[in-house]
Amino acid sequence: MASERLWILRNGQPRLQGAHCGDCGAVSFPARHGCIVCGSAVQTIVDLSNRGKIESRTQVGERIVCEIRMESGPRVMGWLESGELVDIGSSVEFAPHENELRFVPDV
Ligand SMILES: [Zn+2]
Repeated sequence: MASERLWILRNGQPRLQGAHCGDCGAVSFPARHGCIVCGSAVQTIVDLSNRGKIESRTQVGERIVCEIRMESGPRVMGWLESGELVDIGSSVEFAPHENELRFVPDV
């Protein structure tokens, strides 16, 4: 089990937890102790936006795993709620289910 939460509930809304770099401004996910761009240890945990666009998707059995570019910048690997193959570029919204990073179409 990871020591840091990938997401938290804030005001009843699930929010992915990223890290904002105090030196170069990059936002990474998941939050790490060092910046993925410049290596700086000056990292602040921030809420990511809940929306993003699908950059790639792969069918795994009856399900679809996607790389999603969040509006706040970082890329997140997550599962689609339905097994329907969606178009690259589709907007999705974060909707976690238990420990799974899951996304639903953003309508
Ligand atoms: Zn940095």
